[in-house]
Amino acid sequence: MPSTDTPTPTNRYAELTWPEVAEWAARDPVLVIPVATLEDHGHHLPIDTDVVIAETLAERAVDARPGTAVLLPTVTHGYTPHHMDFPGPITIGWKTFVDHLVDIGRSVLHHGFRRILFVNGHGSNVPLVDMASRLIMLEERDAIAATFWYLSSPASAELLAATRSSPSPGGMAHACELETSLYLAIRPGLVQMEKAVREIPDWESDHAWMDWSDGPLSVKGQWSGWTESGVIGDATAATAEKGRMWLERAVEEICEYIDDMAGRRPRPGRDHHHPAAVSGNTREDGI
Ligand SMILES: [Zn+2]
Repeated sequence: MPSTDTPTPTNRYAELTWPEVAEWAARDPVLVIPVATLEDHGHHLPIDTDVVIAETLAERAVDARPGTAVLLPTVTHGYTPHHMDFPGPITIGWKTFVDHLVDIGRSVLHHGFRRILFVNGHGSNVPLVDMASRLIMLEERDAIAATFWYLSSPASAELLAATRSSPSPGGMAHACELETSLYLAIRPGLVQMEKAVREIPDWESDHAWMDWSDGPLSVKGQWSGWTESGVIGDATAATAEKGRMWLERAVEEICEYIDDMAGRRPRPGRDHHHPAAVSGNTREDGI
């Protein structure tokens, strides 16, 4: 837990001086890093939808956990080659993207931090942010790095199921009731609701569909192969009121993860190839 002897410096990493960075590192906080992408979100939402949502959720959660969490600048660009048929997306090669995230992790670990929580706001980043988190922990045994797809915890899934009006499953995936509602709750002036549409593909399958949680069989390919407008879902069902409810739940979810990460102990493991392992010694006292 952080010391209460001295006032806590700002919880915005980029606004710290270097001595303040060192102070924060000594307090062992959870570093919260929003990760997103710029991509088409129908005719009615800005291409920064994933960025704005991930950043807002992360900001609010970090502010709700003073002294425990620090917010890093958002990783704006992610992996979205499947959206390039639509004007706007900027995509980073998958390996470059993973390397970029691992380098961010390496850098902050070098400065003495050890807890990293990636707040991911873009579905196709999921396996890659997960891979980056795993690589960080494998490379630095005392590190604790994790990621999640927002509003996917059991409690959040339950709330979404009970309050959405879009058909389920397969009716709420992108620029949909959920993302449009969240954006309406954050920056209503940038949502062109008169251009919102309902477009839900015929999934032709009981196994493969896209929703906030996808079907068990993953079949992706080009986004333009599934939708004409870029929307997958029913954006016309979105309201700011739903957005505020879901936003509040999403922030609670992140706060729970921050608490989890703050209390978690490192699990460095040990290499059983070394003879010391046979006698039960740790690497430190056995080598
Ligand atoms: Zn999105």
